[in-house]
Amino acid sequence: MSLFHILQTSESLTDKAALAVQSSGEKLGLVESAASNMPLINGAYFVAAILFIFSLVGLSKQESAEHGVWYGIIGMTIALIATIANPSVTNIQYILIAMVIGGLIGTWFALRVEMTQMPELVAMLHSFVGLAAVAVGFNSFLEHQPMSGVMLNIHLVEVFLGVFIGSVTFTGSVVAYGKLKGIFSSKSLMLPHRHKMNLLAGIVSFGLMVYFVQQEGHMNSLLIMTGIALIFGWHLVASIGGADMPVVVSMLNSYSGWAAAAAGFLLGNDLLIVTGALVGSSGAILSYIMCKAMNRSFISVIAGGFGTDVVVNSDQDYGEHVEVQADEVAELLKNAKSVIITPGYGMAVAQAQYPVYEMTKRLRDKGIKVRFGIHPVAGRLPGHMNVLLAEAKVPYDIVLEMDELNDDFEDTDVVLVIGANDTVNPSALDDPNSPIAGMPVLEVWNANHVIAFKRSMNPGYAGVQNPLFFKDNTSMLFGDAKASVDNIVKAL
Ligand code: NDP
Repeated sequence: MSLFHILQTSESLTDKAALAVQSSGEKLGLVESAASNMPLINGAYFVAAILFIFSLVGLSKQESAEHGVWYGIIGMTIALIATIANPSVTNIQYILIAMVIGGLIGTWFALRVEMTQMPELVAMLHSFVGLAAVAVGFNSFLEHQPMSGVMLNIHLVEVFLGVFIGSVTFTGSVVAYGKLKGIFSSKSLMLPHRHKMNLLAGIVSFGLMVYFVQQEGHMNSLLIMTGIALIFGWHLVASIGGADMPVVVSMLNSYSGWAAAAAGFLLGNDLLIVTGALVGSSGAILSYIMCKAMNRSFISVIAGGFGTDVVVNSDQDYGEHVEVQADEVAELLKNAKSVIITPGYGMAVAQAQYPVYEMTKRLRDKGIKVRFGIHPVAGRLPGHMNVLLAEAKVPYDIVLEMDELNDDFEDTDVVLVIGANDTVNPSALDDPNSPIAGMPVLEVWNANHVIAFKRSMNPGYAGVQNPLFFKDNTSMLFGDAKASVDNIVKAL
């Protein structure tokens, strides 16, 4: 799971590019099923689909991730060339102009994006897939080959579902983008009767679909459902609280895949169906893994934070915290036999992974056992910490998953909590009223000493205070994590 965020980005790009080419082809009045008559193009699509599968397999392991990325790039290039080379494509210049403009914008974003902004980028790309699916759905409704009977009914259901999934994906992803970027509060929006509203939206949309098919295509039903689905998507994600956002991101990844598959059916494009299904199912599997890691019920999360009606008591008195300086931490580390580092989002913000590696090297040179404990939702994307540590050349074999070392804290001298907060919060285990109650956490407080690297006493992403920072064996090292680790390295 360690490189899933790269996987998510490449999946989103794959969907978006495939949809863009297909929808432009459709708009230009191309013959939808032309590809099925051309063995060469079908062969190219087949090779591309196989490469996408290889890409997913490669991306699932750190060691093979780079190969996985290349399989994806080659697969997508083949798919694009095969689509454009289709002899039925006329006015190719419009497709090329759109590709150049899209490619330039994409390259500009990709070069500028910081590692900490990756989750927002992924959410934004998902919103494009949703929007493209809505456009393809409407286009396919307005302009399709003459058909009747069962074929027409199937086509209308495809149009309706494609627009519905696309609309939910679009606004849901926009809200996720806002929450990850900090434009909207990460706290859940708790409207009264919100679950009943969601249920009503589902029932009304279903009724509209029946009417839409019965009337052999009724524009107003489609438009009303689109409005409902846009609000539904917005509300669904707005209702989900900060700590459940990892599941939302992977769930939207899955939705974007199904939206692309629906568009594939509408356009009669097998490759788009296969690609969409790959993205949809891998996103669903990732959502399930994330739910398991966070001890959450999948249904309760996708139903808009069902069962999270928790009131946070922000006036609670947690006691006093103790401060420490970098040279004191260096002294503590020199005398330690075993050290565990638990990084979190703050390490990504500070870009502290490079000095952290330097510090690790020096401690290991002194014969001190140093390991990293990675929480499955640390940072803002699955695998976020693994990628940062790999980037800084920290050896894979000392980077362990939470379950692999949670029992080892008792025998650990010093734990360095570098920019982590929710993922080391003991109230997840002790306080049933906490919004993160039930989420497994790194039990760092069982070690002899805990040093928390932070800039202030502000809460983590879930918006709850962390009692760890007030425990007797915890000391706070205030300041930017990179500067603090640099100071420790100097003192070492
Ligand atoms: P948190 O987001 O809970 O906390 C990060 C901490 O880092 C804050 O307390 C902040 O404190 C500190 N920090 C920020 N910048 C710096 C800096 N420059 N130097 C030092 N410290 C800094 O982090 P965790 O990784 O523990 O938890 C991740 C949270 O994000 C979870 O709630 C998870 O559910 C959620 N999430 C995870 C996703 C995923 O897929 N991994 C996706 C979306 C959300 P201060 O401001 O005081 O410095």
